[in-house]
Amino acid sequence: MTTVYLKSHKEESLKRFHPWVFSGAIARVVLDASHKASAPEEGELVCVRSSAGEVLGVGHWQVGSIAVRILAFGVEHLPDDFWNERIRAAYRMREALGLVRCNKDNDTYRLVHGEGDWLPGLIVDVYADMAVVQAHSVGMHVCRRAVAKAIVEEVPQVKGVYYKSDDTLPFKAPVEGEKTGWLRSGGVPNSDEFWSLENGLSFRIDWLRGQKTGFFIDQRENRALVERYANGKEVLNMFCYTGGFSLYALRGGAKSVDSVDVSQKAIDLVNVNVARNFPDATNHTAVTADAFDYLSAQRAKGTTYDLIILDPPAFAKHRDAVRNALRGYQRINAKAIEMIRPGGILFTFSCSQAVDKEAFRLAVFSAAAQVGRKVRILHQLHQPQDHPINIYHPEGEYLKGLVLYVE
Ligand code: SAH
Repeated sequence: MTTVYLKSHKEESLKRFHPWVFSGAIARVVLDASHKASAPEEGELVCVRSSAGEVLGVGHWQVGSIAVRILAFGVEHLPDDFWNERIRAAYRMREALGLVRCNKDNDTYRLVHGEGDWLPGLIVDVYADMAVVQAHSVGMHVCRRAVAKAIVEEVPQVKGVYYKSDDTLPFKAPVEGEKTGWLRSGGVPNSDEFWSLENGLSFRIDWLRGQKTGFFIDQRENRALVERYANGKEVLNMFCYTGGFSLYALRGGAKSVDSVDVSQKAIDLVNVNVARNFPDATNHTAVTADAFDYLSAQRAKGTTYDLIILDPPAFAKHRDAVRNALRGYQRINAKAIEMIRPGGILFTFSCSQAVDKEAFRLAVFSAAAQVGRKVRILHQLHQPQDHPINIYHPEGEYLKGLVLYVE
């Protein structure tokens, strides 16, 4: 196996279980005999050693500033049952959380959350009896069949495994084989007829054409909180996607719910989901529109709401975009706060990993100050328990939200 030697003193973070080796920490790479090229192949397994030769771990080689993502610490090779052992551990954790098996109201959960489950570069979301696997590294792409095998062996409910990595693998990476398609078909119905259950609500999951793996599981707990506050309220769910927050608001007794998203496909699914869960509802309206246009047009008409949810896509996809992203968060939050009736509530989120909670809070503070409303923080929200943050890898924290009381 190829061996990567670190510069002296660069082993400290690995000894503290941080799973990334940056290219600047590498002193030299000794290729194994099979190599024709002068560098390791992207996605190949390499052994990482300190400058003194001590074994630190084994991981996937990557091209870029993160050169290796460690899969197993303190070993030279992956153990034979590595994939089964990791998937089993991830599943056991979700069982312990009460998300699976004993929970008849819920079969939607994240099984693997990358570094948070000691599997850097891998995401697995489970919907009823199928799993959607997403590779964010070439190494995980190379291992996709082993991952699928371990999932069907270790997760009793899962029969089908679909692979969906066309948008997540590094751009330009040399990838062999399909980036999307069934790894195990398992007789699962196609994505036009597929339903999954979250806290007793049914959602159509279109993993083929939908965003990410088909659904945003990370808002489950925050949706439940919206349900608690929704009774009797006129609600706007902005950036609604397939209507997650809208269904909870309807079940919570909202007087009316307006769901808005720029994607027509998403709005079609909101209507399908509302019809399935609340066939007699006459208090739900779905609108295909850009968020800024919609808020400006409604403001001009004098529309106000008791409760607004703002859950935009990541405004900053990487560090260079943070300043613009913060301006975007300020603008959209100012527009929403203006439209909240006195005594109303705003749920506002950011899923940009590059924008930390302090920066986000400052953007929301600036929005409140800009429109001159008195605002208090009721809750500080984050990603749920099936999206765990590895304490040695704080970069895994990405979702943050504030619930505000607006006077
Ligand atoms: N709240 C959703 C997830 C939101 S994801 C849930 O609970 O499932 C972000 C959504 O914002 C996507 O559905 C995307 O289509 C939508 N979106 C992106 N840009 C937009 C814009 N300018 N105006 C309105 N919606 C937008």
